[in-house]
Amino acid sequence: MRIWVFAEEVDGLPTSLSLEMLTKATSLGDQVAAFLVGTGSAETMGLLAAHGAATVYHLDPGDALPSSGAAAALAELAGTENPDLILFGLQPTDRDVAGRLAGRLGVPVLSNAVDIIADEGSIRVLNEILGGTTLVETAFSGKGPHLIVVRPKSFTAEPGDGGDPDVVAVALPDTGHSGSARVIERHTETAEGPKLEEAAVVVAGGRGMGDEEHFSVVEELAGLLSAAVGASRAVVDAGWVPYSLQVGQTGRTVKPTVYIALGISGAMQHLVGMKDSGTIIAINKDEEAPIFGIADLGVVGDVHQVVPKLIEALKARG
Ligand SMILES: Cc1cc2nc3c(=O)[nH]c(=O)nc-3n(C[C@H](O)[C@H](O)[C@H](O)COP(=O)(O)OP(=O)(O)OC[C@H]3O[C@@H](n4cnc5c(N)ncnc54)[C@H](O)[C@@H]3O)c2cc1C
Repeated sequence: MRIWVFAEEVDGLPTSLSLEMLTKATSLGDQVAAFLVGTGSAETMGLLAAHGAATVYHLDPGDALPSSGAAAALAELAGTENPDLILFGLQPTDRDVAGRLAGRLGVPVLSNAVDIIADEGSIRVLNEILGGTTLVETAFSGKGPHLIVVRPKSFTAEPGDGGDPDVVAVALPDTGHSGSARVIERHTETAEGPKLEEAAVVVAGGRGMGDEEHFSVVEELAGLLSAAVGASRAVVDAGWVPYSLQVGQTGRTVKPTVYIALGISGAMQHLVGMKDSGTIIAINKDEEAPIFGIADLGVVGDVHQVVPKLIEALKARG
């Protein structure tokens, strides 16, 4: 089976989601290729190959907003190369390209996939509904290529031997008005510590932290544990922290070894973004809080008393 993975490059490296999808693709198909949008650094090429891409179709969009051109280029290539499956990540550019490509090819997209099953000639997709409490299995019928949008952290990126991929340069097609938007400036949010999606430990705070000032305790604890800071939507909506820290259905999906939830109730929309974490520790003053339903370790208590004590103990340990 021929599988393509839509890969994005950020700061000279492929996104972790691209590598997760490539790893899954190699378990499903024998001919795996990446369609890379970016400058195509040597490091990116090496990592794509190490995660299973024998071929990399490389489109460098320059300063063009890439979605329109990438979809047109993919449609043209798919017409000649006939991939069975094209995987996209659940992130803005990928979703934009998947939608445009579906329109161009006249095929459906299955979105929010947490697993893909290919056997006996059928390709089926599992996705979670009702806040992750119910799994739905959907099978493609009709002509391909089948387009799937994959949720981050559904698969684990595992590098193999790699080598040098065959790189095929793809020209940016002229798509008229829809391709005329240009990227004129980029803002990179300054952040300290590990990235939220890649951190081994996440310390997340919710409305129970009280206010913006007290939220700094979450940051202090995270600093001591070399952890990333996360937050519930209530906190983001209140303006205490930026949206980039939001964990959940409309925020980031994380899968750290340890997730510490401070003053977070555990609404379904939050759980869906962190429930696959290794060990979940919750501190909440309400023993009925739903977060305790999935916590491995729960402390019923006031965050303003428990967390400072925890910080004190960690500092004493040195
Ligand atoms: C379409 C949609 C998408 C959404 N997407 C997201 C999402 O991506 N991420 C997300 O998080 N939410 C999301 N939400 C919002 C979600 O439904 C909840 O409203 C939100 O998660 C609640 O945040 P919270 O747990 O911080 O606040 P609350 O639900 O208000 O919980 C606060 C908790 O703190 C506890 N507490 C209070 N004081 C203390 C104290 N001193 N010590 C200890 N515990 C204390 C309380 O007992 C309570 O359990 C979404 C909602 C919708 C409708």
